Amino acid sequence: MRVAVIGAGIAGLAAGALLSQAGLAPVIFEKGRGPGGRTSSKRTDHGSIDLGAQYFTAQDSVFKDQVADWINAEVAAEWAITPMVLPERQPARAQRRFVSSPKMSSIARYLAKDLDVRTEVHVAEIVRELTGWVVRDRMGQPVGDFDYLLITAPAPQAQSLLAEPSPALAAQAANVRMNPCWSLGLVLGSPTGAKFDAGFPSTGPLGWIARSGSRPGREAVPEVWILHATAQWSQTHIEASPDSVTSALVDAFRALHPGPLEIADTIAHRWRFARAASPLAEPQGYLEGDSGLLCAGDWVTDGRVEGAWHSGRAAALRLIDLARGQLPPGEAE
Ligand SMILES: Cc1cc2nc3c(=O)[nH]c(=O)nc-3n(C[C@H](O)[C@H](O)[C@H](O)COP(=O)(O)OP(=O)(O)OC[C@H]3O[C@@H](n4cnc5c(N)ncnc54)[C@H](O)[C@@H]3O)c2cc1C
Repeated sequence: MRVAVIGAGIAGLAAGALLSQAGLAPVIFEKGRGPGGRTSSKRTDHGSIDLGAQYFTAQDSVFKDQVADWINAEVAAEWAITPMVLPERQPARAQRRFVSSPKMSSIARYLAKDLDVRTEVHVAEIVRELTGWVVRDRMGQPVGDFDYLLITAPAPQAQSLLAEPSPALAAQAANVRMNPCWSLGLVLGSPTGAKFDAGFPSTGPLGWIARSGSRPGREAVPEVWILHATAQWSQTHIEASPDSVTSALVDAFRALHPGPLEIADTIAHRWRFARAASPLAEPQGYLEGDSGLLCAGDWVTDGRVEGAWHSGRAAALRLIDLARGQLPPGEAE
């Protein structure tokens, strides 16, 4: 059985790992330069900076076991921190928070290491033909022919791939609103002396700030802060220039931590589809269309790393069932 997965984020890689364990040898197509998706880290002159997902939580016991395995494999660690609600400096909700270590993409790289991940392949079209699912890149070149196809791109990107071959799945993806996020890495020439390591600002453009070096595995020098704008501010400023976004977010940071700020560098990144504002909460964890077409990802479940992982695995288990039953695509029940 020939299986392809589109997207090497946590969902696609969790699926890939299970499929591979079951002997199904999936091919994973990823448009980015490396695996990780929204858990990737940006390589900079000052080391890797985690501009996307900041941490994850583990609520379900199966995921807790998985996190324990990642910790044993030294690709994750608990971030023992109590973020503050700012500017009041009240402790935010206490919960166990975890990070990939030493950078946010470490778990993805670990999952990807034994998989056939083909990076820098931007899938532009999927077409059902007699031979199976033909996958084409942006140049219109076929990159493979598969019996089963699992799409794990964020909802709006999945929707455009699905529009032709599966209007029903495309309509489900269209129901999911994904919020953007402007993210800024702020590299400082001298320490701030801030008395907190992370916080949720309750007013202004910022929704989250964190001192990178407070996380396990990160360098403390130079001091780097990661600033995330709120979904609303990011939406309003979605087409703003990186320079103007940088200046607004730095001003907002100064308001939270008055005092001299020696800025050595800034790295702004716009996530058009950062968080699913209205995930589908699909109980089975994946969506299934005709002819062996499946969708998974955080937007199908609950919009978090844990949800993405569950979703990818649920889709993989479904594919493994289909393979074991040797059900031809289209006779999937
Ligand atoms: C700024 C930010 C903060 C966040 N904070 C948190 C947090 O604190 N806690 C938490 O749990 N979650 C957080 N998240 C959300 C978390 O990152 C996601 O829920 C999770 O990583 C989604 O994984 P995924 O595999 O479903 O999707 P993605 O990580 O988006 O993976 C999909 C992959 O598909 C690829 N792709 C898309 N289209 C194509 C195509 N046509 N061809 C080939 N490849 C394609 C993409 O490049 C991407 O690598 C945050 C996200 C962001 C951006």
